Amino acid sequence: MYAARERSGEDRDYTTCPVCSQMINGSPEELNEHVELCLNRVSTSLVAVIILTMAAVEHGDNVNKQGLLM
Ligand SMILES: [Zn+2]
Repeated sequence: MYAARERSGEDRDYTTCPVCSQMINGSPEELNEHVELCLNRVSTSLVAVIILTMAAVEHGDNVNKQGLLM
Protein backbone atom coordinates (compact mmCIF):
# COMPACT_ATOMS: atom_id res chain seq x y z
CA MET A 1 0.00 0.00 0.00
CA TYR A 2 2.76 2.37 0.91
CA ALA A 3 5.24 1.06 -1.63
CA ALA A 4 7.31 4.03 -2.64
CA ARG A 5 8.21 2.66 -6.02
CA GLU A 6 5.59 0.56 -7.70
CA ARG A 7 6.67 1.84 -11.06
CA SER A 8 10.34 2.03 -11.92
CA GLY A 9 11.45 5.51 -12.82
CA GLU A 10 8.62 7.23 -11.01
CA ASP A 11 8.80 7.96 -7.33
CA ARG A 12 5.79 10.23 -7.14
CA ASP A 13 2.99 7.91 -8.13
CA TYR A 14 1.18 8.68 -4.92
CA THR A 15 0.47 11.76 -2.91
CA THR A 16 -1.08 12.32 0.46
CA CYS A 17 -4.19 14.40 0.10
CA PRO A 18 -3.66 17.53 2.23
CA VAL A 19 -7.38 17.65 2.90
CA CYS A 20 -8.27 14.14 4.04
CA SER A 21 -4.74 12.75 4.54
CA GLN A 22 -5.58 9.87 2.23
CA MET A 23 -2.98 8.22 0.04
CA ILE A 24 -3.88 8.86 -3.57
CA ASN A 25 -2.55 6.94 -6.53
CA GLY A 26 -2.97 8.47 -9.94
CA SER A 27 -1.94 11.15 -12.34
CA PRO A 28 -1.60 14.81 -11.29
CA GLU A 29 -4.98 15.42 -12.90
CA GLU A 30 -6.56 12.71 -10.79
CA LEU A 31 -4.95 14.13 -7.69
CA ASN A 32 -6.23 17.59 -8.47
CA GLU A 33 -9.66 16.18 -9.11
CA HIS A 34 -9.66 14.38 -5.78
CA VAL A 35 -8.45 17.45 -3.93
CA GLU A 36 -11.10 19.59 -5.57
CA LEU A 37 -13.76 17.19 -4.34
CA CYS A 38 -12.28 17.34 -0.85
CA LEU A 39 -12.12 21.11 -0.99
CA ASN A 40 -15.87 21.19 -1.52
CA ARG A 41 -16.18 19.93 2.03
CA VAL A 42 -13.87 22.43 3.66
CA SER A 43 -13.72 26.17 3.95
CA THR A 44 -12.91 27.84 0.67
CA SER A 45 -10.42 29.98 2.55
CA LEU A 46 -8.10 26.97 2.48
CA VAL A 47 -8.37 26.37 -1.25
CA ALA A 48 -5.48 28.58 -2.27
CA VAL A 49 -3.14 27.16 0.35
CA ILE A 50 -3.95 23.57 -0.49
CA ILE A 51 -3.67 24.06 -4.23
CA LEU A 52 -0.28 25.66 -3.73
CA THR A 53 0.73 22.70 -1.58
CA MET A 54 -0.37 20.22 -4.21
CA ALA A 55 1.45 22.13 -6.91
CA ALA A 56 4.62 22.13 -4.85
CA VAL A 57 4.35 18.39 -4.31
CA GLU A 58 3.75 17.69 -7.97
CA HIS A 59 6.61 19.85 -9.13
CA GLY A 60 8.86 18.41 -6.47
CA ASP A 61 12.31 19.91 -6.23
CA ASN A 62 11.85 21.88 -9.42
CA VAL A 63 9.30 24.29 -8.07
CA ASN A 64 8.68 27.30 -10.21
CA LYS A 65 7.15 30.10 -8.20
CA GLN A 66 5.46 31.51 -11.26
CA GLY A 67 4.08 28.08 -12.05
CA LEU A 68 2.38 27.98 -8.67
CA LEU A 69 0.32 31.02 -9.45
CA MET A 70 -2.94 30.04 -11.00
ZN1 LIG B 1 -8.86 13.96 -0.07
